[in-house]
Amino acid sequence: MKLFLDRNKTLLPRVDKIYLIARGMILLSISWLLFFSSLVDTYDMIFQIVFGTYVAHLILFYLSTENKFDIKLAYFSTIIYDLVLIPLLIMYTGGIHSSYFLLFFLTVSVAAYVLANFFSFLVLVVVTAGYILSVFNSIQLNDMFNVALNTGFFWVYYLAIVYASEFMHKSEKRLLKLLDTLNLRTSELEKYQAHLEMIYENSRVLASILDTDSVVSELMNLLGRLMHFEGYSVVFKDANNNYYYRARFHNKQNNFQIEKIPLHAVDLLDKVAMQINAVMIKNVSNRDDYVPLNANSHSVMIVPMVAHDELRGIIIAEASKADYFKDKDLQMLTAVARSAALALENAELHKQTEELTVTDALTSTYNYRYFAQKLEEEKRRASRYNLALSLIMVDIDFFKKLNDTYGHESGNRVLAALSEIIKECVRDVDIFARYGGEEFAIILPQTPLKDALVIGERIRTKVSEFEFKSNKDEILKVTVSVGISSYPENGRSHEELISLADQALYRAKDEGRNLVCTN
Ligand code: GH3
Ligand code: MG
Ligand code: MG
Repeated sequence: MKLFLDRNKTLLPRVDKIYLIARGMILLSISWLLFFSSLVDTYDMIFQIVFGTYVAHLILFYLSTENKFDIKLAYFSTIIYDLVLIPLLIMYTGGIHSSYFLLFFLTVSVAAYVLANFFSFLVLVVVTAGYILSVFNSIQLNDMFNVALNTGFFWVYYLAIVYASEFMHKSEKRLLKLLDTLNLRTSELEKYQAHLEMIYENSRVLASILDTDSVVSELMNLLGRLMHFEGYSVVFKDANNNYYYRARFHNKQNNFQIEKIPLHAVDLLDKVAMQINAVMIKNVSNRDDYVPLNANSHSVMIVPMVAHDELRGIIIAEASKADYFKDKDLQMLTAVARSAALALENAELHKQTEELTVTDALTSTYNYRYFAQKLEEEKRRASRYNLALSLIMVDIDFFKKLNDTYGHESGNRVLAALSEIIKECVRDVDIFARYGGEEFAIILPQTPLKDALVIGERIRTKVSEFEFKSNKDEILKVTVSVGISSYPENGRSHEELISLADQALYRAKDEGRNLVCTN
């Protein structure tokens, strides 16, 4: 059980100094009693000891108000001291007729103020007993009422102080609790701000990335590592208004496989995309316009990535708990989405500029520089992953003659039309380039020789069947010779692949043109 109330933890006004002044006044009164009054003999040993220890105890009390002595001990000594001194004073100064019993009020109040309830009550009982004992000898029958009244006052006084001090303690507790909550909120806010700064810092990194794939993977990293969403995805919209997952994290796994989102699950995404407005849904389980990434998701945020009024994609974040996301989460994700949209725009612009510098103006195919770079890359990839790779070279037969007969302008038309025919014969992943004047090259990743031969043959046939037009609308018949090399059947290096395709092409020329040859 606690003897003292925990005063240092409370905001109660410190009454120590006031109490010290009151005790000082008592010292004056005792001094008067000792030195000037006839009631007490100056040479009375007991009274001298009482006086001396009182002075010592007052010094201790003073030191404790200066924080040089334990205040609890000072109060404790005061109470003990009073319980001995006051009855003594009363007895020496006339018993029932002494006014020194008033000092007991000070004792009772200090006990009620600083001690725990049980102990302060004990002090009250001892005070009552001490008072009765000290006046017992001088008591007359008609004094009984006086004694009873004084004792009664001690009790009433005690109860009033206990009540007041308890009330104050309670209000303080409430106040302290409030302060604790405030401190907690402040530290939460500081943590949130630090988190926010970290996310902003990282979204700035997005701006320095120049290709879409890297923007997407860095964005996924941000959503997972820094924002800790349980499920999240980056959704793009294609030219036919289909929505597809560009990347997603669900069932605790990253998935970078591009996947179309089924039509029945895109209504909500469509709404976000149309209105360019972020939405936060507290419980998605009973909605039929959205299908969550994780089957157990309830809370969802869907935020559009918009830069310069153009929708670049959508970010989705999910949590299993219903009503999990707060406004600040939505604000944060919106800020990230804005940075991501700018990064995607940057990447797109970069790609366009790159394409401009790598395309041939006449035929809208890649130029030689791009071809050379890509062939090297594809060759490296084929070696690393043990994949097939083919190279097709196409050269127009007797093109010089065509130029001479129909003019350079007609020659240019043939080059452009021929490019279109070849484009239709190859896949999107194939790299089709103008190799030189009237020579074209096609890189076919993951394509073995036998498949490349089929494609080469298809190009040769289509060209020979096509009716080209001169600039005067005359019908021109054009043929091409095709040379093919493949990895790993033929060349080992990319230079070797070119040289072997070239050799095959020359063989086709030698053997009469309008032919497909390989080594
Ligand atoms: P073959 O390949 O069948 O041996 O005969 P060829 O006449 O096609 O051979 P060659 O490679 O000697 O001729 C290529 C010609 O292509 C020369 C040049 O006038 C023409 N040429 C090259 N670039 C262009 C171009 O951009 N526009 C036009 N109109 N002609 C071009
Ligand atoms: Mg030629
Ligand atoms: Mg040529």
